Amino acid sequence: MSILLPSTQGPVHEVFELDRITLFHLRPRLQFPFKTSFGVQRERDTILVVMHTRDGMVGVGEAPTLSQPIFDEYYMLGEYDALQRFFLPVIRDQLGGRIVSFDAMWKTLQVFKGHSFAKCGLDAAYWHLVSQQTGQSLAALWGGQQGRVPAGFSIGGHDLTDVLERAEKAVEAGFMRLKIKVWPGFEKQVMAALRERYPAVMLQVDANCAYDPFDPHHRAALLALDMFDLLLIEQPFARNDLFDHARFQAENDLRTPITLDESIRSLDDARRAIEIWRHFGIGDRLIINIKPGRVGGYWESRLIADLCAQESIACWIGGMLELGPGKWMNIALASHPACTLPGDHLQPQPYYEQDIADPVPTLVQDGMIPVPSAGLGCIVDWGSVERLTIHRYDVAMG
Ligand SMILES: [Mg+2]
Repeated sequence: MSILLPSTQGPVHEVFELDRITLFHLRPRLQFPFKTSFGVQRERDTILVVMHTRDGMVGVGEAPTLSQPIFDEYYMLGEYDALQRFFLPVIRDQLGGRIVSFDAMWKTLQVFKGHSFAKCGLDAAYWHLVSQQTGQSLAALWGGQQGRVPAGFSIGGHDLTDVLERAEKAVEAGFMRLKIKVWPGFEKQVMAALRERYPAVMLQVDANCAYDPFDPHHRAALLALDMFDLLLIEQPFARNDLFDHARFQAENDLRTPITLDESIRSLDDARRAIEIWRHFGIGDRLIINIKPGRVGGYWESRLIADLCAQESIACWIGGMLELGPGKWMNIALASHPACTLPGDHLQPQPYYEQDIADPVPTLVQDGMIPVPSAGLGCIVDWGSVERLTIHRYDVAMG
């Protein structure tokens, strides 16, 4: 029997009359290089979307891209172009700069396929405006109920020593869960070393699609991870796959749950995944990583969390190395009751040499992050925005 999707209808708020939308191409520099199966990040190109209303409100949202199309097919300049060429003109010309509801904006944007990161920037800026207009926190707007959320740390180290050093700092800082970026040949030894050192810490791995389900060495390496009592194995296979992941898990009786990241690009993808895992009789071993940039924004993310709650599927909020405002929004989203696992919201030290949020999220002592009870959780430091700006693009909406 197929799953009934939760209602996708968004709430209706007062109309926003936009004066202009400004895009900033920002290039923040990471404090520490971040290595994954697809490459090393030292700096990022990302987009800040800023909506100005005629009555003086300012909504900000990040389109949390990477510089190159290495996570998926999207990259910063491509999303910047899509915003300039399609999304901003359609808000100006079809809506007249007048957003009567989230659904009205979303329907207009959905004419264009894909470009989920660009859509996320507009979605996030819109919800930031709603939060200011209604006086409600973003968490409340997105169904959040938890006052604090658990913090995990994502380690993209270049070798075993590097991973162990980063893990030590994270455990000392109080992180309750470590996620290790792995790739073929760099998994079993590193997880064995970590499990030996930290028998009680929650551990998980993220392969970012680096494994081939038909390569016997890759299969054996993944199955060997079952012995380390991991919380989950994230996205070992192709980014557009659901079937091979589920079949591999079922046929080999892999006990560790598989988490889908790159493969979930919409609410409907999440539904399909749940149905396929259940078809194989392993519905209790699927976990979903929700990333607003990958699914087109925070409202679609909230709907996926609603579906997970309805179907008793565990989920958590991942990250795309967002700047502070995006991280605060992810934390607000993570307070949804379906998000029961720690998310990738911060590191022992700030991600960037210079961020645009004041403050950036930090850990409190027991491994939890407080969820902002009002607004965004930070102010935007416009001086830092200026300093990190490579290019700026402004469109009048009137
Ligand atoms: Mg991932």
